[in-house]
Formats: sequence, C-alpha cells, structure tokens
Amino acid sequence: MSAGPKPVVIVSKCLLGERCRYDGEPVSAPAVLSLSKFLKLVPVCPETSIGLPVPRDPIRLVRTGDRIRLVQTRTGVNLTWKMRTFCRQFLAGLVADGFILKARSPSCAVRDARVHDATGRVLRGMRRPGFFAAAVLDSFTNVPVADETALSRRHAREHFLARVLAATVGAGKMDANPCAAARKKREARDG
Ligand code: SF4
Repeated sequence: MSAGPKPVVIVSKCLLGERCRYDGEPVSAPAVLSLSKFLKLVPVCPETSIGLPVPRDPIRLVRTGDRIRLVQTRTGVNLTWKMRTFCRQFLAGLVADGFILKARSPSCAVRDARVHDATGRVLRGMRRPGFFAAAVLDSFTNVPVADETALSRRHAREHFLARVLAATVGAGKMDANPCAAARKKREARDG
C-alpha cells in the first residue's frame, strides 16, 4: 500500500482475540484482523487497564438525573472517575491514525452502548458511546473511528482504510503518492 510505515490504529483488545472481556470469552472479528495487512493494530482494553480482572462482574452505563456513570452493577462500585482518569492519561499525547472499537460495550462502543436507570432497567431507545469511545471522539476529531460491526462490510472497510490513509497523508506521515515517492528514491539512488 505504501513505502512508509503502516498507519497506527488503536483497537479494542478483545477484537484481536485477547480474552479480556468480562466473561473471558473470545470475540471473533476476522474482518478487523484482515486489516493488519495494511495497518499497525495497537490493542487497548480500558476495563482491564483500570484494574478489573477477567472474568469480572459486568459494568454498565447508568443514568441518574442528567448524569451517566459507569457502574459495576452487582457491587454498586462507581468506576466513572477511574475510567475518566485512564482515558485522559492514555489519550494524552497519543499519536493514532484511527480507532476500531468494540460495539455495544459500556467502555468501547462508538455509539450503541445501552443505558440503564438506577434500578437496572434498560432505557429503551437510548444508546450512546461508551466512556472510552466518548473520550476518543472528543479528542480525535480528524481520524476515523469505527466499530467491528460496521467494518464487517467490505465497502465500509475500504472507506475506513481510505480515511485512515487520508488522515495519515494529511498529517504528513506518508507520501500522498507512494509510486512517485518510490520513483524519486530510485532517481536519487541512480543519480
Ligand atoms: Fe476491553 Fe473494550 Fe473489549 Fe471490553 S470491549 S473487553 S473494555 S477492549
């Protein structure tokens, strides 16, 4: 695809086959793995990064008034502050050309994490980004952010790759025209 280094894309670790989900079960995401031909896929698991074990009690987005918190339902532990701190530290100064995040996760979902009320009932029709994804969307407005569900479609994958490349070229990290760059190198070498 290019003469330069592969663009760096941050990926939810469970999508790369790591057993880091709350139930320790693997996730199959072959379409995401196939992108490793073109991209450097760098894993992150926000939940284990804040010290949660595998397996663990599931966590949820819980709305109280106009606030959304990240809560471990069975224990009632509020993880909002810990997760916000992790997101701030992880994303500060991070160089990334795109993100691929796990759908429906209260941490990683780009748009479709369920929200519950304080009694544990799902608030129907209310979906939003998980805490980590929300921080990514706030901080990285110029790079593509997608979930594995969207990328299971070939057209969407191609579009994602094109946007990653555009972001990379825009940031001056890759030659806009790799063929021309290769020709220039050859000319320089051959005098
Ligand atoms: Fe970890 Fe995100 Fe996967 Fe959950 S969805 S296991 S937080 S990487």
